[in-house]
Amino acid sequence: MTPNAIVKSASKLEVTPNLLDYDAARARGFWEHAREELDGLPGDRGLNIAHEAVDRHAFGARADHLALRCLDKRREVHDFTYAELGAEASRFANALRGLGVAKGDLVGVLAGRIPELYVAALGTLKNRSVFSPLFSAFGPEPIRTRLAIGNAMALVTTELLYERKVAALRPSLPHLEHVILVGEGGTETDVPGTYDYRRLLEAADDVFEIGPTDPEDVALVHFTSGTTGKPKGAVHVHGAIVSHHITGRLALDLHPDDVFWCTADPGWVTGTSYGIISPLSNGVTAIADEGDFEAQRWYGILESERVSVWYTAPTAIRMMMKAGVELVREHEFPALRFLASVGEPLHPAGVVWGEEAFGLPFHDNWWQTETGGIMIANFAAMDIRPGSMGRPMPGVEAGIVHRRKDGGVDEVTTPGEQGELALRTGWPSMFRAYLGESERYERCFAGGWYMTGDLAFRDADGYYWFIGRADDVIKSSGHLIGPFEVESVLLEHPAVAHAGVIGKPDPVAGEIVKAFVTLKPNYVPSRELEKELLAHARVRLGAVVAPKEISFTDEVPATRSGKIMRRLLKARELGLPEGDVSTLETGE
Ligand code: AMP
Repeated sequence: MTPNAIVKSASKLEVTPNLLDYDAARARGFWEHAREELDGLPGDRGLNIAHEAVDRHAFGARADHLALRCLDKRREVHDFTYAELGAEASRFANALRGLGVAKGDLVGVLAGRIPELYVAALGTLKNRSVFSPLFSAFGPEPIRTRLAIGNAMALVTTELLYERKVAALRPSLPHLEHVILVGEGGTETDVPGTYDYRRLLEAADDVFEIGPTDPEDVALVHFTSGTTGKPKGAVHVHGAIVSHHITGRLALDLHPDDVFWCTADPGWVTGTSYGIISPLSNGVTAIADEGDFEAQRWYGILESERVSVWYTAPTAIRMMMKAGVELVREHEFPALRFLASVGEPLHPAGVVWGEEAFGLPFHDNWWQTETGGIMIANFAAMDIRPGSMGRPMPGVEAGIVHRRKDGGVDEVTTPGEQGELALRTGWPSMFRAYLGESERYERCFAGGWYMTGDLAFRDADGYYWFIGRADDVIKSSGHLIGPFEVESVLLEHPAVAHAGVIGKPDPVAGEIVKAFVTLKPNYVPSRELEKELLAHARVRLGAVVAPKEISFTDEVPATRSGKIMRRLLKARELGLPEGDVSTLETGE
């Protein structure tokens, strides 16, 4: 036991955890049992995420239970019971069908955390179309690339986002047949070449029978980033609901009377798997807040909404720590009983700060876009080792491995030895493809393992500890950013000859995006040019993805084959030894 482990005793736990006997749960046919907690479509017609998340409750005992409470920016409330959410999603599904959007067609949704996003997600899944969320803070370039890779047939967005970011892209997106717009504050809109969300839904029937859905039918596409090349569209199937459901129950310890708040934006995988699907499948009340992070606002929501289970992220925790514990003391949280965190390393001080501020520690857990759901977690009934991601979900076999040159892997058995974190293939929410990139997909697997691209070690008691990424992907405020996407936009500028982009450590955001730029002849470094490049990147990429810092340099180091040596740039930035330059190849 590590000296500062947080020991769980029965007296500390207000509610009996759903997962009490970890070893017993691991021993039995875990996924088969998990599947039994779901209903399946009536008449043995398969497994559909939207049926499990809404319809089975909408037509069951929880019909009048509050399913979703959306708070708008002014904190006005928009509530849906399960019956109401089911009916609204059916209207959306009928509207899609009316437009000719069918099974397998991709529906992109670009919106903040507004009620229409949640309805569109569930309605799309009812229609057996493919839901693909896009982060609303993206600039036009990331939006265009993702809609193009996904061959999106329809897009749901707001009038404002459409005019600012999408309208000009339409000629370059021939597959995008239908754009459905939500007016400001849910009002009607009249933009040429688009449909008005409100009018479409009003004209649609609120009854929709979900068609037969094979668990292997594609349900979701989540875009993520690699080191090189275009963003990757990770494909998930309806059968993933088994993971979404059971991880909510066991890793987040959801009980039927919980009020659950996942602060992640559905533009990223956590906000869909745990902001929409998992809490609804578990029949609890989900809170969605349209507002951005602000410590006072968040404490106010935790208090007034009587949130009992809270799932947030390390950047937010660090910002709350910075704001000071005194602000927390202005509120009371009698309902709060379980805190969890994901998306970036949660430092031990963050775990412990939860105890100081809320009387409850944060439970770190680990997963990624490709895994679709939580894979490693600190569970409610288990001692927490601050700084550790926890232990694998029952049903998940994790390992620490080294890749061999022949394509196989060697498993590390010595506790504490570092290697790549790998997961035995076969859990229900494992991604099934990268859209249109089968080779890239195949490269993620070796010797029966899915290779996560993270470096980690396991201690003698089976707890996993994160070390870093094996590749050059950047994690900034929890958002995964591909350096290639940023470099490509910088290279569009007439002054830029070469660009290399790295994650620079930052005490709050984890990392910030930093670019190194070599200028073309006739251009000279200046503060004005730096500002111009920063502005160019911001307009094209959006503030979240664009670099925060730019340095001009005489040379952006690259291998002979032209791969940018980001490791070397990073070593130089951090003043670390540059090491053996010949081995500094970048990974995928
Ligand atoms: P994404 O696919 O955007 O969800 O990002 C997944 C990546 O975020 C992982 O591969 C890790 O590098 C990082 N990550 C997620 N959760 C954790 C965690 N609990 N501790 C450390 N890193 C994490």
